[in-house]
Amino acid sequence: MTTFSGNKAVGVLFSGGLDSGILVGQLLRQACRVVPLFIRSGLVWQERELEAARRFLQAVASPQLSEPIVLELPLGDLYAGHWSMTGTEIPDARSPDEAVHLPGRGALLVVKAAVWCQLHEIGRLALGVLGTSPFDDARNPFFENLEAALNCPPARPIRLERPFAEMDKREVMLLGRGLPLEHTFSCLAPVGRLHCGVCNKCAERKNAFQMADSRDPTHYATGRVTSC
Ligand SMILES: [Zn+2]
Repeated sequence: MTTFSGNKAVGVLFSGGLDSGILVGQLLRQACRVVPLFIRSGLVWQERELEAARRFLQAVASPQLSEPIVLELPLGDLYAGHWSMTGTEIPDARSPDEAVHLPGRGALLVVKAAVWCQLHEIGRLALGVLGTSPFDDARNPFFENLEAALNCPPARPIRLERPFAEMDKREVMLLGRGLPLEHTFSCLAPVGRLHCGVCNKCAERKNAFQMADSRDPTHYATGRVTSC
């Protein structure tokens, strides 16, 4: 089993989206040895997401960056019939935040990635969670409790790090300037390799570039591309 101890290695829960992509870029700037962890759960957009994740990592390639680790976490039995599995009735730009929340997925992803890090002697797992997230499973008590549970002996110590926990979307996007964000992906209903342009996540993506006064480099299948 490959180990990464003693070289400032940090695992990153990496979806290929804007926040986790910017997190990878930031950690590389800080000379960390970065090990991206992509978790595949069978959600309808994830194959496109993984392709984009690989493209982004190739675009920021450096000796400090490891090949992505792809972990399997099938959720079809939990989410049977859900839009994330069927691809129908995908939440659009007018949907409330709650509509895109997948029950339990935050904890499942963190536990899977953290245990992988523990088994490979990586003592840090970085998460691109923003302080402005409306969900309880993005707040301090959730992560403090989860970290305490993961550190119960005889488990190897692991620290859950959230460098963006005090930041809003605009601040994170400003950190991302200079990174190849055109290779990130955040769409619930991809059209081929394109973002759909109309789903809840595409709307969030357009807003993110607008907030940062940045040109949106995304190719959308429908909907007007935001530009400044
Ligand atoms: Zn979309």
